[in-house]
Amino acid sequence: MPWVLRGLREGVVTTGWPRRPDAYADGWIGGVDVLPGAADPAAERLCPTGAIGGDADGGLALDRGRCILCGACVRARPDLFAWAAGAQTARLSREALVVPAPDDTDEAAVERMRAELAARVRALRRSVHIRHVDTGSDGSEEWEVHALLNPVYDVGRLGIFFTASPRHADILLVTGAGGHGMAGPLRRTLEAMPAPTVVIAAGTDAISGGLTAPTYAVAGGVGGLVPVDVWVPGSPPSPFSLLHAILLALGRVGPHRPERGSP
Ligand code: SF4
Repeated sequence: MPWVLRGLREGVVTTGWPRRPDAYADGWIGGVDVLPGAADPAAERLCPTGAIGGDADGGLALDRGRCILCGACVRARPDLFAWAAGAQTARLSREALVVPAPDDTDEAAVERMRAELAARVRALRRSVHIRHVDTGSDGSEEWEVHALLNPVYDVGRLGIFFTASPRHADILLVTGAGGHGMAGPLRRTLEAMPAPTVVIAAGTDAISGGLTAPTYAVAGGVGGLVPVDVWVPGSPPSPFSLLHAILLALGRVGPHRPERGSP
């Protein structure tokens, strides 16, 4: 009975995103930005994962695919780095995770990539089933993946479901740093899925290994194990970012660069 009363009192908690804006998603820390004009080679030493480096013009560049959001760079050098707000962090290429985007970014190529993926997954637009495979995660990504099913995100409202069988799956959602022991099972899972298929690398560990460099145990990301279509950084990525990756893979939303801000 108390639960019924509480439910009546709180009303609908389910987000309307992406059909309606959601302040919680917009205020989420989506990554770190390099401030305009930032240039100090010493800043590269601040990062424990090697995400900070130099760009072609002598400025600083930051690879969100390596960033674990520890905040060390923002705390130490607020004149060079700032938090970026917004959960729409997924991208269609590994290169697009580097900020600021190089001046010679081929926007036409990005648009072509997006159109090709949209054409490939046209049949999946109404509903999709996801097979999640953990290739050696610390468990944090799994909490966020599971959250997609709670009443706040309720991805079933968008025709998105999880399945235990790759035979019924359209999307392969991969977490973890790419343990060599999982390479075979991961490939067999993808082979068992009916075409068309989409692969999402979920989380910084799945993109680059994060704090884990390639070793005898892990590949340092899953890009070398299976062909990845969508990359969503974060350590872990928020449920909104995961949802953005899924909808981006299906061509239902576009890539969006988070606005600079300090949530
Ligand atoms: S917040 Fe990201 S880029 Fe900055 S120091 Fe931490 S891991 Fe490196």
